[in-house]
Amino acid sequence: MSRTKYIFVIGGVLSGVGKGVTVASIGRILKNRGLNVTAMKIDPYVNVDAGTMNPVEHGEVFVTDDKDETDQDIGNYERFLDTTITSLNYMTTGRVYKSVIEKERSMYYKGKCVQVVPHIPLEIISRIKKVADESKAEVVAIEIGGTVGEYENILFLEAARMMKLQTPEDVLFVLVSYMPIPGHLGEMKTKPTQHAARALNSSGIQADFIVARGEEELDKPRREKLATFCGLRTEEEIIGAPDVPSIYEIPSVFEKQHFSDLIAKRLKLRFREKKNPGWNHFISNMRTADREIKIAVVGKYFGTGNYTLADSYISVIEAVKHAAWSNGAKPELTWIDAETYEKNPEQTLELKNFNAVIVPGGFGTRGIEGIINAIRFVRENKIPYLGLCYGMQLASVEFARNVLDLRDANTVECDAATKNPIIHINPNQADNVENNRYGGTMRLGAYDCELRSGSKVQKLYKATHISERHRHRYEFNNVYREQMEKAGMQMVGINKETDLVEVVELQNHPYFVGSQFHPEFKSRPLAPHPLFMGLIKAAIKSRCSIKLV
Ligand code: GLN
Repeated sequence: MSRTKYIFVIGGVLSGVGKGVTVASIGRILKNRGLNVTAMKIDPYVNVDAGTMNPVEHGEVFVTDDKDETDQDIGNYERFLDTTITSLNYMTTGRVYKSVIEKERSMYYKGKCVQVVPHIPLEIISRIKKVADESKAEVVAIEIGGTVGEYENILFLEAARMMKLQTPEDVLFVLVSYMPIPGHLGEMKTKPTQHAARALNSSGIQADFIVARGEEELDKPRREKLATFCGLRTEEEIIGAPDVPSIYEIPSVFEKQHFSDLIAKRLKLRFREKKNPGWNHFISNMRTADREIKIAVVGKYFGTGNYTLADSYISVIEAVKHAAWSNGAKPELTWIDAETYEKNPEQTLELKNFNAVIVPGGFGTRGIEGIINAIRFVRENKIPYLGLCYGMQLASVEFARNVLDLRDANTVECDAATKNPIIHINPNQADNVENNRYGGTMRLGAYDCELRSGSKVQKLYKATHISERHRHRYEFNNVYREQMEKAGMQMVGINKETDLVEVVELQNHPYFVGSQFHPEFKSRPLAPHPLFMGLIKAAIKSRCSIKLV
């Protein structure tokens, strides 16, 4: 195998301009040409993982098979690269310092004075190299979080600089920068990006490519200006990245500018095949989908304004899109704050205007009575429903309250003293909570599940043995299993080892499924998830499906 190549992606001007999607798209265009690619995310936070961060502030916590609570960008990498990524590919400042300190305590440094430089960058480099070794990837694309010029990511930039020094021909730097168009000028400005390129220079790094993000196309004069003032060799090395309707269009935007060829030339990569029919097919489905379906998402963590929304539940949104597009449908998502239905239960009537309802994961008591009211409405009115984790737990609570007539049924997360704890907590989890052991202690990552033959869910999966990813502390209480089954809520997915309920489904309903796991984490553009496929198919059949003209 030839030597692994490393592409560092660094942000300039402001955060949130699409470094993650750039890494994922670079990965995709190289993969489309036959290379084995993996991607890493570096979060400069001191947090050891993303599990302790508020999703409204930091975005979704993406869970890997191997129990890591990572940044949502890891989800983009899995989706774009169609590959399973492990915890090795995620790094935070907290994680790096933790290992250096643990190594120091075990005399790993053999009595040396352990210093921020070089020991921290060396630890960072060894983590990057480990990913290359374990994944056998020919290219590792690495996103350094934050933007150049800030204090937090300096040591990561230093590690990247050191790697370039060691093997200059194997390391490439891509600066993703923002090109504002101030309203009063109506003209795209290059100056902030020039400053970002210089800030990068002061860390000892010269950008090899600049991905210039902006609301509009990048024109020739600005390409020339950026190349000249940012020290690039030709204007070809400036890649324009205007806003596009979907992030999945970005690989095509890059390829129109021959980005993969340019990268190959710089890194001396040899491509093996030219086309990826699977990806092309997915893109064409996405572009042609025209049957509008309306989906309501009822929950919390919607924050204020659209930007926060999309980030807290990005995997749910993407899973809906993958399944919808593959069925020729165009999903329109409406976010409903559960508290609305808590204050005005009669307002749940508006759910009649939707083809399907999703209750995603969540924590704590706020809004849960509203969620339960919504679930009751969709159960009784036969609106397709998918409950994800909390959405499965609360569907069970609703059923116990309104069908089994156990009026005080609840999850102990919301009412520790309830006489009917439909959802309870096992003793070791209770111990974690009592002793403030929150970090990385939930039931996390991949667990096996056996599906009941002949159930709706089993037919959708076309399998009886599945594995899905988890992130929760509470569980369905098996004491109620028999009563619920008799009344029509079937426990069709079970973890055999622990006898925990993983999936419930309702009889006599077009589609009413709840999963204790998070199916959204495993949905891929090239492999939409069976539970979302089931929801979308039922949504298309349901009453208010409108064909757009
Ligand atoms: N709050 C619930 C639990 O901890 C559900 C978690 C979730 O939806 N991810 O079990």
